[in-house]
Amino acid sequence: MQLDLVIRGGTVVTAGDSVVCDVGIRDGRVAALADRLPGAREEIDATGKLVMPGGVDAHCHIDEPAYRGVKVADDFASGTIAAACGGTTTILSFACQAKGETLRSVVEAHHKKAEGKAVIDYGFHLIVTDPHPGLLGQELPALIEDGYCSLKIFMTYDGYMLEDRQILETLDAARRHNALVMVHAENGHCIHWLSHGLTSEGRHGLENFTKAAPMAVEREATHRAIALAEIVGTEILIVHVSGREAVEQIRWAQARGHKVLAETCPQYLFTTENDIARPGWEGAKFACSPPPRDADNVPVLWRGLADGTFQVFSSDHCPYRADGPGKSHPTEAPRFDHIAVGVPGIETRLPLLFSAGCGGGRLTPQQFVALTATNPARIYGLYPRKGTIAVGGDADIAIWDPDRDVEIRHERLHDAAGYTPYEGMRVRGWPIQTLSRGVSLWRDGRVTAERGRGQFLRRRRPA
Ligand SMILES: [Zn+2]
Repeated sequence: MQLDLVIRGGTVVTAGDSVVCDVGIRDGRVAALADRLPGAREEIDATGKLVMPGGVDAHCHIDEPAYRGVKVADDFASGTIAAACGGTTTILSFACQAKGETLRSVVEAHHKKAEGKAVIDYGFHLIVTDPHPGLLGQELPALIEDGYCSLKIFMTYDGYMLEDRQILETLDAARRHNALVMVHAENGHCIHWLSHGLTSEGRHGLENFTKAAPMAVEREATHRAIALAEIVGTEILIVHVSGREAVEQIRWAQARGHKVLAETCPQYLFTTENDIARPGWEGAKFACSPPPRDADNVPVLWRGLADGTFQVFSSDHCPYRADGPGKSHPTEAPRFDHIAVGVPGIETRLPLLFSAGCGGGRLTPQQFVALTATNPARIYGLYPRKGTIAVGGDADIAIWDPDRDVEIRHERLHDAAGYTPYEGMRVRGWPIQTLSRGVSLWRDGRVTAERGRGQFLRRRRPA
């Protein structure tokens, strides 16, 4: 058996175990795992390094249509290059329906955006904003059949927010066709009412951003989403959980046997509400929804990552330019209800979690791999092609130097946001090489990825 590539002598980490062995790659797939493999055309010495499955980032906003007039900065080239440089080899981004558009036309438009640009493999979740009977009865089932087996709904945001009846009907359609519904759980009516109260008193500063979306807003919507899913009899995944009160709802549901999955993100571990209250426009760089909470909530999230309350750790990469509209203005002061909401993080997701999680003794390397690659691959219908290192699976591999000391600076990152919320933080451990289907994209600080080589992933959820 002639191998194209052997990664030699590294510690191969999967969600199940760690073992020192060689990884043989042929035709873009893992062809052999063994103590000592014969020579190949190309070899990588991984002695002393960790050989991990490339990350699966299941929550990224790339080249989406503008929201309130502001567009995300990354297209599928910059977004996927940044992902690869941070050890991620698969992204799931969103095809978002504007009211009146067909989902199919939105999906086709997103394919055009990704083709010729993406350097890693990608799939799309469907954002459903207008779940009329034709969409739920015909369009959605056909799209699920075509490999788009997950959708996202919102309980907040003008133009996106669904009412309970619509949520029930959407969950029911997803149940019947075996798709997973991701839920942005915040009560939009509460946020509107609270925002109105604050602005009518002339309180516009960014310190009010969290006051307009306190944890009760997230807790209520999380509980309601869980109850609606229970009534329909289907599984849901609560995205970007920010703190204790939503965690309590999720644990309550899981303890009762309800099928509730949950995700959290770096911004809830490594920033707090105090960052959004930084003076001037600086705070806008940290604004996302739901907002990060106080420092007491951070250990609650770490516990949830370690004890299985959370299955998925995603970036929710939503890169608005720091010097662009919604995040800055030359003369005007920021208003909490007008800023662009979202933070970048596609490249720093894995190093931050690895450093503070594995380095900090909070997570085992196996848990790290499970949360960042294996579980999202399983949940979203990509496993075992993605999310692990196993014979027959794609050779999507990140080789990590666990001792590399890196100070995070945006000038070293590759996304187009122009800033990182984690500027100046030190991490230990960074991927020194990233392979996608056996092709090296990032090695020793150099990007070698060929644009457009990324492939669309048709996904199907296990029955
Ligand atoms: Zn998001």
